[in-house]
Amino acid sequence: MSDKFDVVVIGAGPAGYVAAIRAAQLGLKVAVVDAFVGKDGKQALGGTCLNVGCIPSKALLDSSKQFFNLSHNLPAHGITVENAKVDLATFIGRKDKIVKQFTGGIGQLFKANKVTPFFGKGKLLKGNQVEITDPEGKVSQISGTNVILASGSVPIELPFAKFDGTYIIDNAGALDLTEVPKRLGVIGAGVIGLELGSVWNRLGADVTVLEALPAFLAVADADVAKIAAKEFAKQGLKIKINAKASQVEIKDNEVHLSYTDKDGEQVLVVDKLLVAVGRRAYTEGLLADDVGVKLDERGRIVVDDHNHTGVDGVWAIGDAVRGPMLAHKGSEEGVAVAEWIAGKAGHIDFDTIPWVIYTEPEIAWAGKTEAQLKEAGIPYKVGTFPFAAIGRAVAMNEAVGQVKVLAHAETDRVLGVHMVGPGVSELIAEAVVTMEFKGSSEDLARIVHAHPTLSEAVHEAALAVDKRAIHKGN
Ligand code: FAD
Ligand code: AMP
Repeated sequence: MSDKFDVVVIGAGPAGYVAAIRAAQLGLKVAVVDAFVGKDGKQALGGTCLNVGCIPSKALLDSSKQFFNLSHNLPAHGITVENAKVDLATFIGRKDKIVKQFTGGIGQLFKANKVTPFFGKGKLLKGNQVEITDPEGKVSQISGTNVILASGSVPIELPFAKFDGTYIIDNAGALDLTEVPKRLGVIGAGVIGLELGSVWNRLGADVTVLEALPAFLAVADADVAKIAAKEFAKQGLKIKINAKASQVEIKDNEVHLSYTDKDGEQVLVVDKLLVAVGRRAYTEGLLADDVGVKLDERGRIVVDDHNHTGVDGVWAIGDAVRGPMLAHKGSEEGVAVAEWIAGKAGHIDFDTIPWVIYTEPEIAWAGKTEAQLKEAGIPYKVGTFPFAAIGRAVAMNEAVGQVKVLAHAETDRVLGVHMVGPGVSELIAEAVVTMEFKGSSEDLARIVHAHPTLSEAVHEAALAVDKRAIHKGN
């Protein structure tokens, strides 16, 4: 007889571990199966996000920002530091410590909530049985009245640029370099390419990012993308749009990357190449042939609006299913599924999921872009406000970027908020709350914002929707 649980979760990333904790809070008997092996060779809970994604990238972004500021921001404050150096072992070691703290923290949360972790690869068999193969190859079996598939995603590999860990690296490799490459090539100007490209650029690498699409950051608001592109160029990040990588050759310790742009065939020679062309759902070895869980044309687990797979008691969440590949999206699905399983009213609002890119300046948005509103034929009003007119931003010497509020032309309901500038990863929360409460730009305009703070840019942009911003001409 295999151990029987109310819920077995396969995958302990931000989708799976959050689902497990919420299910346990609701009184269910919960097991989690996860195969991630940390740098110390032991089980490391927390998935991509905690081990090789959100958390380590933010640790390196912060360290590299401190270094970059020494030469690019502090002199304006009258502070100069000569011969500043980076000790890369400490730089990477700090990141590793943070990762360990948080992956270990998930283990403690599991203990506190009486969630049972299993270390190994889980495979869903018919009848909600889960086969676990541990790292030594020992096989065991548990079963769940409900099984939540949260197997996450892995980097997409280009057929002509396979990851070798030395010259051609993925996100995990780019978070663990042992020296600053003289020249770093990045394929893909998406979130991961821009964030990790920024880290090494700030430490002195000559970074070139190739993007196949004709527009830079096409998913973002067009003004935000324009402002960001200008700032990245000032920082020395070379971004080439309309540049499609097509071939790689390693010669004499160098990566020769062929790509095509408007002028024809080009070759970029670099020391390391980060391939960041997106991620794909990871389902290898997850499903026995006869379980009946379906995959779509992109290999994602097919689910309905309630994250149910159509197979009795089998649910799927996070990067392994449709929707944006964001940690908080997966976590919200995890909470909702646990609540649905427990007979409660789970809820996810896909219209208000915030997006953040942790570059300098930061980029953040929630809701619709102008392009999306135009395409949908929705009439809207626009209010913008520049950080250049925000006292706090100027005092910080970071007065770059703007906030843009989009509100319905007739009802004034806030439909989208788009930001680029200092601290916008935090400011976006106000926009999300407003949209979640179906608030209007008038609501935002009538809320008292502390002075002097960066949040005044949101206030003024909301006022600007009706041409009554105080600190700029309307
Ligand atoms: P994952 O985090 O991928 O976790 C899945 C887990 O399941 C893994 O531990 C895996 O080993 C395990 N697993 C898979 N199959 C099995 C199996 N059969 N048996 C046992 N275990 C299995 N998102 C943000 O919101 N903010 C950010 O700042 C951010 N930064 C990022 C930076 C980088 C460099 C990267 C790569 C990603 C970033 N992301 C960020 C995306 C974020 O990491 C993912 O959206 C998130 O991790 C998805 O969570 P998940 O639980 O669905 O899957
Ligand atoms: P994201 O999906 O946000 O991680 O972004 C990945 C980016 O990589 C997308 O903007 C793609 O257009 C881009 N991309 C994919 N394939 C190539 C390629 N062969 N050359 C250059 N850019 C690419």
